Amino acid sequence: MKQPLTIDRRSVIRALAGTTALLACPAIAKAKPRVVVVGGGPGGATAAKYLKHGGDELDVTLIEPNRLYVTPFTSNLFLAGLKPYEALNFGYEALAARGVGMVFDTVTAIDRDARQLRTGGGARISYDRLVISPGIDFRWDAVPGYSPEAALLMPHGYRGGEQFKLLKRQLDAVGDGGLIVIIAPPLPYRCPPAPYERASMMAYALKTRGVKNARIVILDAKDHFAMQTLFIDAWERHYGGMIEWQDPTIHGGIKAVDPKAMTVVTDFETHKATMVNVIPPQIAGQLGRDAGLADDSGFCPVDAGSMRSLLDPAIHVIGDSATGGEFPKSGFAANNEAKITAMIIRAELADGRRLPVRFTNHCWSTIAPNDAVKNGARYEPRDGKIVMIDPYTSQLEESPELRAKQAREATGWYVGMTTDIFG
Ligand SMILES: Cc1cc2nc3c(=O)[nH]c(=O)nc-3n(C[C@H](O)[C@H](O)[C@H](O)COP(=O)(O)OP(=O)(O)OC[C@H]3O[C@@H](n4cnc5c(N)ncnc54)[C@H](O)[C@@H]3O)c2cc1C
Repeated sequence: MKQPLTIDRRSVIRALAGTTALLACPAIAKAKPRVVVVGGGPGGATAAKYLKHGGDELDVTLIEPNRLYVTPFTSNLFLAGLKPYEALNFGYEALAARGVGMVFDTVTAIDRDARQLRTGGGARISYDRLVISPGIDFRWDAVPGYSPEAALLMPHGYRGGEQFKLLKRQLDAVGDGGLIVIIAPPLPYRCPPAPYERASMMAYALKTRGVKNARIVILDAKDHFAMQTLFIDAWERHYGGMIEWQDPTIHGGIKAVDPKAMTVVTDFETHKATMVNVIPPQIAGQLGRDAGLADDSGFCPVDAGSMRSLLDPAIHVIGDSATGGEFPKSGFAANNEAKITAMIIRAELADGRRLPVRFTNHCWSTIAPNDAVKNGARYEPRDGKIVMIDPYTSQLEESPELRAKQAREATGWYVGMTTDIFG
């Protein structure tokens, strides 16, 4: 049976007090400030790594239930058969080797007054400073008929490795004349171009297998989407009419999904589909909401200069759970926010250097193996909000060589990013 684990500064000091080393070396009598990070994705894992960067002044613990992280980024290439599933998997061994204490468990509650976490395994873990990056949760009831159980038949494929695998199994089973329906969410949600990259990669998979007369219908909650003209142009060039995008004025709203019948009812028609990918509206990960760190938007408001929660100064919220202006929800952004947060905490608790806060985000979308588009911007904090400056996006008239170069850039970005997070 698992023993409850209690770790707090007092017990660390008590343990140290019993050692002769303590008498010989008074410098170690002072316990290090304890920083606990929850969530081992791009936000949390990067923060834990960079809190240890440049010195060992902090006691850093990362709590994450899974021993392997499966990257949502490039999961669409896995769907297309362009990447094996194992290539999306990353472990935490390198972080542990850097001195990050790994706890594989789920945080079930944050006692903000006592500055203590409770975990599903029964541990109580105290913190001087807490960083949480628990990702997203869904507004399950926003799509009538959808639920966590329904997601086992109509996958969202938006978090967790099993969902990506299920989506691929269903895609691989689509035959001639098959109909795929993708329900795309309203903003804000993680990686705005991802549903459209997904439609592209599904079409690529069907085309490569020689599936005839299949269709992909995107029923969107939005009246436009990121890099829309670029996607629609490339869909015509590569997949000749296979992908159809409908805005709310065309479909009239989603009335219901029925996972057993595999139907989607809109205001105007009932789609009898071969598979349905429902991407529901999103909110902050449950932990952030349960801890009272979210506002009416469902996300956790932060000060953009420090990613500090506006509702609790001892807690920083980073990654997709946070909201603080115009910064997008992406792995790139989460990684950036994590490094800024680590710098701020090291400056406050470990006498580290504090540099001006700047963010960047670049996002590549693969439409076909040698045809990738990108957009991005720089961001800076102004009056506590993150403000976008210098946005750019790919152009319609770009040469095939430039598009192929961007596809190679996307591959390079993935290697660099995952090395920065988990290496
Ligand atoms: C199809 C798709 C394509 C994408 N493509 C790109 C792209 O090209 N570029 C890009 O930059 N981004 C992309 N993204 C977005 C990117 O994946 C997310 O923005 C990013 O993963 C957010 O990181 P995070 O740390 O906030 O959350 P997550 O990556 O979701 O990590 C959260 C972690 O917290 C853990 N956790 C949650 N609750 C608890 C708890 N109570 N206790 C302990 N641990 C907990 C979870 O297990 C998880 O490991 C894509 C997303 C999708 C779905």
